Amino acid sequence: MTTMLGVSLAGRDVLMVGGGPVTARRLPRFLADGARVRIVAPELAPETRALVEAHGLVWSARRFRRADLAGAWLVHTATGDLRVDVAVAAAAERRRVLCVNASDGAHGSARLTAQTTSGDVIVGVVSDAGVDPRRSASVRDAIALLFAGGALPLRRRRSGAPGRVDLVGGGPGPVDLLTVRARRLIAEADVIVADRLGPAAELLAELPADVLRIDVGKEPGSHPVPQEEINELLIAHARAGKRVVRLKGGDPFVFGRGGEEVLACVAAGIPVDVVPGTSSAISVPQAAGIPVTHRGTAMAFHVVNGQAEVTPATLAALADDAVTTVILMGVRALPRIAEAARRAGVAEDRPVAIVENGHTPSQRTTHTTLGRAADEARAVGVCNPAVIVVGDVARAGFLLPAPAWIGEATR
Ligand code: SAH
Repeated sequence: MTTMLGVSLAGRDVLMVGGGPVTARRLPRFLADGARVRIVAPELAPETRALVEAHGLVWSARRFRRADLAGAWLVHTATGDLRVDVAVAAAAERRRVLCVNASDGAHGSARLTAQTTSGDVIVGVVSDAGVDPRRSASVRDAIALLFAGGALPLRRRRSGAPGRVDLVGGGPGPVDLLTVRARRLIAEADVIVADRLGPAAELLAELPADVLRIDVGKEPGSHPVPQEEINELLIAHARAGKRVVRLKGGDPFVFGRGGEEVLACVAAGIPVDVVPGTSSAISVPQAAGIPVTHRGTAMAFHVVNGQAEVTPATLAALADDAVTTVILMGVRALPRIAEAARRAGVAEDRPVAIVENGHTPSQRTTHTTLGRAADEARAVGVCNPAVIVVGDVARAGFLLPAPAWIGEATR
């Protein structure tokens, strides 16, 4: 039988016997845990030497002696010579020092686990009988995949831990465009405060019933829950010791008022962090086959909130052939923006693409020009959410001759 212990090596003396590649492979793990590592080996492989130098480790350039065990909490032996490793393990046994024997086919009193972590949860795998590191590693990898998929119940059960807020970018919609970190934080959350856009609906439906879901459903022009109240909600739940995920469409810092939520948490003394997401400013044009920059065509891109006033900077971007202008929340404002551009002398034939419901089955792209955009948007009944792209990259078939493929990948 083997008992798996979660041992902290921080500040503890660890003796590594042997200076080869196995030592080099395991060393970082001990160092990451804060162990004080000493090495005894007549010679060092280049990779071991690099680590010894980088971390200023103590290296005794000779063969192992029993006296080397003095003070060690753990010994790791990987000399490449089975007899030496067995002798080290036997000496450690007599001294009651736990020993990992890395020799093929042998093992000492301790074994290193194949391990994977997700947040503060660590899962280790060892085999109880024969040594089979490849199997342990593949079991570990399978568990890591479950972690990454958000499929494991990572929520804390013990209350009393301090609460926190994570602003999580949810990307443009499909759950598989969430980041691995976003999935993990959602799996750990006690409370999820979500917008209507993004992957919210699908994900929230899958959560266990005891996770509190709060829909603050923002849409252009209607903000059912005012920003101050959202800030207060986040703070109140975190103060009550909850792990709060503020799930936002796209990226939290792109017209998402994420900065204000961070400031509110900081002012309230609540630990807060931000997970970036794939912004619709880039990913919705991409879903329609539009690269926001393209060597030789678009050297920069300018992202604006269509609801705001049309600034000189936006007019300059619209007028510049080498710049792509990306307008979010611009459906209602499109006639006003197009008119401002016309009055400022921007060419009426600047290509425009309006991409609705990017990355969803109802994605639709309307290609037009600045001069005709307002009329055409009305004619085809463009609706929110949509991203409006102005510039040469927005021309129909810019990347591929036939635009027929556009959107198919999401269907
Ligand atoms: N933080 C978000 C943007 C919030 S503003 C991000 O980084 O993506 C909301 C605007 O984003 C919408 O009005 C629309 O212009 C755009 N948007 C978000 N998701 C979209 C989608 N799937 N399709 C088209 N536009 C989208």
